[in-house]
Amino acid sequence: LYREAQRTGVIFMKGKVKGVAKDMTVTYADELLGEEVPLAGLDMIVLATGMVPNSTNVDGKTEEKGQELLLSDINPSAPIKVAGHKNGAGQPWPRRKEEAPKGAPILNLQYRQGPHVPVLADGFADSHYLCFPYETRRTGIYTAGPLRRPMDMAESAEDAAGAVLKAIQAIKGAAAGSSTLPRVGDLSFPKIGLSRCTKCRRCTVECPFGAIDEDEKGQPIVNESRCRRCGTCMGACPVQTITFDNYNPIMVSDMIRAVHVPDEFAKKPRVLILACENDAYPALDMAGIERRTWSTYVRTIPVRCLGSVTMLWPKTAFEKGYDGVLLLGCKSGDDYQCHFIKGSHVGMERMAKFGDTLTSMAMEKERVALEEIAIADSHHIGEVIDRFAAVIGKLPPNPFKGF
Ligand code: SF4
Ligand code: SF4
Repeated sequence: LYREAQRTGVIFMKGKVKGVAKDMTVTYADELLGEEVPLAGLDMIVLATGMVPNSTNVDGKTEEKGQELLLSDINPSAPIKVAGHKNGAGQPWPRRKEEAPKGAPILNLQYRQGPHVPVLADGFADSHYLCFPYETRRTGIYTAGPLRRPMDMAESAEDAAGAVLKAIQAIKGAAAGSSTLPRVGDLSFPKIGLSRCTKCRRCTVECPFGAIDEDEKGQPIVNESRCRRCGTCMGACPVQTITFDNYNPIMVSDMIRAVHVPDEFAKKPRVLILACENDAYPALDMAGIERRTWSTYVRTIPVRCLGSVTMLWPKTAFEKGYDGVLLLGCKSGDDYQCHFIKGSHVGMERMAKFGDTLTSMAMEKERVALEEIAIADSHHIGEVIDRFAAVIGKLPPNPFKGF
């Protein structure tokens, strides 16, 4: 093909283009000759472009501001600086070397996390590779083509059409006040009770989508058009002052309290499962359809994301007399499947902290656990639940039972 193209008059040149004049003369730095060469008399010029899988101008100066925050954006299991668990127990995954994109930002996004579109460790724009391949963590910005993975021209064109459709969907959703994926149609948004807010900034730091900023007094402000309604801010708030009209700490606490808990003489442990509605709950549903069975001691409540699980819920469960609390969430790590990026990781950090609290109350830390479940795990989700129920069955009853 190369030879045939040459026979028809195509000239292939290897070098850095220095300029294209109005008379179609191309000047380029020839790598073999080591000098600038003008090439005149051309009818058509095709300039090959390098594929740089990020949103930066590689020839520009690398911004220093925001780089540290961007690094934590690159790795979905990066520690969370404010609310993180200190002893590292919440980070079982091997960490890849992280590098922020080199060069000046092109988009200059006004996000406290930095001006770039977040990328993963390999430099490609971040996205949920299974469910939302075009989404980035910057709501309303959709990537296509080699920006998100290597692809050729034809595939890129098709990919761009998909990204455009997603963008149209986002614009329509925003106009109607509704969230984008995965909670399409959700008209609720986080409300912050500022009278109780301690300005601790946990919500700002933990929001996976950079949707919360602070005003000049340090009080958090939610940007609703960026918000995906994951509830991570709600789970992060230590004073439970973030609520949604259709989802809030008190609502789920009431659901936990409404469950009947057998007394200590019944010898029937009660286990609470908080299951993420994105993967774990559908996997449970599917297991039910397949007529699979698991421990009858468990009661399940769906949650938006494990990131939304506030410490109040396991606390309420143990006060009520439950013997164990199991969190079921999406897979985390580099090729994460968490629909809200860091939910499982955040949940793991919080439950590790909660386990320490149990220990300080002379209760067994094994009473809380988190398991990662993919949507296709219906065949073994019952085993996961039974394994946890067996651990709880061997422990003495919750000492708070009956109080
Ligand atoms: S609901 Fe999620 S996306 Fe919205 S502000 Fe809270 S943490 Fe951010
Ligand atoms: S996490 Fe709660 S207390 Fe802390 S800044 Fe946010 S709203 Fe205020």
